[in-house]
Amino acid sequence: MGEKRSSSAAQISAAKSRVPNGEAELYVAKGWRYNPIPFVTSIKNEACFMILKVARLGFPSVRTTASPVPTERILTHDFQKLIDDMIETMNEYHGVGLAAPQIHLPIQLAVLEVENHPRDPDMPSVPLTVLINPVVTILDDSLVEEWEGCLSIPDLRGRVPRFKQLRVTALGRDAKPLEIDASDFHARVIQHETDHLKGEVYIDRMPNLRTLSFLEEWQRFMLAPPAEKKES
Ligand SMILES: [Zn+2]
Repeated sequence: MGEKRSSSAAQISAAKSRVPNGEAELYVAKGWRYNPIPFVTSIKNEACFMILKVARLGFPSVRTTASPVPTERILTHDFQKLIDDMIETMNEYHGVGLAAPQIHLPIQLAVLEVENHPRDPDMPSVPLTVLINPVVTILDDSLVEEWEGCLSIPDLRGRVPRFKQLRVTALGRDAKPLEIDASDFHARVIQHETDHLKGEVYIDRMPNLRTLSFLEEWQRFMLAPPAEKKES
């Protein structure tokens, strides 16, 4: 709001020095302010992915039961852009998943992906997945406890038990039904993200709040040293 929308030679010149591939005119003409901190991370063929503000615990959407997405809305330009923006936001903050209530929208939409996680190279890969109106069925109800964190509860980690194996049915970004069987870490990410769609967060699932740790102390005292970790 209140952004100056007129372009000028000086603005184009300034932007050209920073925007690659001669895209400065497009950027200035559209009234976007180029910032080296990438709020706008890609401007090609008029596609413009935005990094969204993440809602923290206490913002009402994080505690709201999300509404189903009408199928006819999925293929609209606005909804497809929302999906792209959520993926961009998840990647920017090194999340392994992001649910729409975390970007202030209580609708049943979540994205997840893990590929060479920068903070934990040992983290198993999870393919990029868009889940719309997901329904989870537990296939193996044995519980596995592991550490979790959440972009809406920054700088904390805690031990959370999760079901070992599940099946999720949902609509994909192409509005077609999809079905995924997942176990262990993959199943954990799906449970974490689908909990968000019910207004629940991981600390609700912690049987013992005494494991809750700040990130710095967690790295210092809770994680095994690398040599021991490899042997176990
Ligand atoms: Zn979360």
